[in-house]
This record gives sequence, structure tokens and C-alpha cells, in this order.
Amino acid sequence: MIDTELYSMRLREKAIIPSERKILIARLAGSEQEKDLTTSVNCRGYGRIRHFRLKQHTDWSQDPLPILPAAKALNYTPDIVLRTQVFQNAACNWRCWYCFVDFDRLSADLRVSDYFTTDELIGMYLEDQNRPDVIDLSGGQPDIVPEWLVWTMESIKKNGLEGKIYLWSDDNLSTRYFWQYLTSEQRKFVASFPKYARVACFKGYDETSFSFNTLAQPKLFNQQFEVYRDLLKEGLDMYAYATFTAPPHAGLLDSMEEFVDRLQEIHPNLPLRTVPLKVEAFTPTKRRVKAKQEESIVFQHEVHTAWIEQLNKRFSEYERNLPICDVPMVL
Ligand code: SF4
Repeated sequence: MIDTELYSMRLREKAIIPSERKILIARLAGSEQEKDLTTSVNCRGYGRIRHFRLKQHTDWSQDPLPILPAAKALNYTPDIVLRTQVFQNAACNWRCWYCFVDFDRLSADLRVSDYFTTDELIGMYLEDQNRPDVIDLSGGQPDIVPEWLVWTMESIKKNGLEGKIYLWSDDNLSTRYFWQYLTSEQRKFVASFPKYARVACFKGYDETSFSFNTLAQPKLFNQQFEVYRDLLKEGLDMYAYATFTAPPHAGLLDSMEEFVDRLQEIHPNLPLRTVPLKVEAFTPTKRRVKAKQEESIVFQHEVHTAWIEQLNKRFSEYERNLPICDVPMVL
């Protein structure tokens, strides 16, 4: 099991050079992940264009992120295929077996990553004549190095692009580095930066599923809620994902009821800003999936049904059909 506190610190030591304002970015060229990409990597092998599409599933909820919030902010029609420029920092403190990133690209491994300033990253992005209007700071776990977001915002501002780009970042809710390494002025700068939103992922719906998915200690499941609440309190525009893979078990309805209660303790509308993420196979995950994981991929459908039941019980049809970006959620 991962010692999250210690491993986060060790990763951070390699994942950032504060004095040079440099962040360790994963090289996607040559990775297993690259085989799953529908477009070739860009930015000299350290970035990629990702297309997000609104898909209707017969057996799963629709994932409207980040399409609807970005489309609203940029005045696009909501049915567009959203093109985004993705960069991945090369460090994550957890090891979800379903992660579509190669584990060496999460380990601050200097053989498959390199240091860049955010001016250099934004510079590479600007070289592309057909660049998207959306930048996605992904990972890895971007909040191992929360300065990355602040410096990116500063680089965007310096290039006169403030308010013209939709900026999206991911978070696995594993650390409190947002408070530890950013000043209150920097946190305010982040919260008030135009057209920025963050999606944080709840890695399971109870301690067992959380630990099964991440290899982190079960008690850290609870910390995810605290970190999410505090980010919302800072004034960030927040969304959420939740993964539902778990070893099959009894008492599912009670577990799900408690999970949705806890989301609503943060904000009554948080379940409407939470998207269940269907776990699927990717090239890097093939070697990691054993019988238990296979079972959990099947079981996630039962968990998803329990989730839908909770939403149906707690929200009207009108509320459930609101576009996710129109669900009010301010603390
Ligand atoms: S937290 Fe995210 S980046 Fe880290 S291993 Fe899990 S899915 Fe991958």
C-alpha cells in the first residue's frame, strides 16, 4: 500500500524546480498511451490534442466534461467536438490500475520526461496555427505541483490570452499542497482567473473501493471530501468524477446512499456536478487487469444503477436534466 504523504513529497522533489519555475512534463511520444491516441502527439512529443465528444450510452451516464462548461464559456454550440491541448505532469502519487497513463510517466522518471517552464509550454502551444481554445493540465496529479497552474495562468496573461482560453485542470484530491505551497494571493488569483475550472475525481464510493482502485490507504477516501470542500470554499469552479469499480459486495445500496449523503454535505447540488466515469480497457492497463479487476469492471454497472437510483430519489427530472455547467454550486 502506498504511503501517500511520503511518496507525494518524494515525487514533488523531482517534479518541480521552483527556482527556475520548471515543471516535469511527461513525454508522450513512445509511450503505451500513445497507441490509444487518435491524433499524433504534438509540442515536440510532450503534448497531445484530445477530442471530447458527447456520447449517448445505453448502459452508462453521459460524460459532458469538459465539453459543456468550455462550450458555455467560449460561446460554442454545446454539441461540438471539443478539441483541447493536453499536457501531463510526470508525477502521480497513486496507482489506479485503470489509469490510461503508463506508470513510468507517473513516477517522475527523467528518462521519459523533461523540465519546461510554463512560458515554454504555452510557447509550444502557440506555435500551432490550428490550436484549440482549451488547455487541459492533466497528469499525473497536477496538484503535486500546484505552482504549475499559477504559472500557466501567468503565462497565458503575459501572452494577452486571459479570458480567451478555457483552462481546465485535473485533481485526484490526494494532497493539501494547494494550501501548503501557494500563498493566499496565489489562491485568489487561481479562483478569480477567467474561464478556469477544475475537475476532481473521487476514486471510489467507499473506503474499500477507493483503496482497491488507488492502492492508497483506505482512510484517505475521507480526506478526498475535505479537500474538495476546501477547494470549493476557495471559490474555484468545481466539477467531479467518480469511479465505481470495486470487488462485488453486499450492502451496495447503503454504501451508495452514504456516498451521495457525503457529497451533499459538501453542497446539496454536488451530485449533479458529479459524473460517473466508466472504467474501460486501455493499452497501458492490459497487463494490470487480473481477475479481480475484471470482476470490478462488470460490478461497476450495479454501482452505477445504485447511483442513478439515488439521483432519482433526491432530484427532480428538471434538476437532473440541467446542463452540468448550469447547476449552481457556490459555498
Ligand atoms: S490518480 Fe489519476 S493519474 Fe494517478 S494513477 Fe489514478 S488515474 Fe492515473
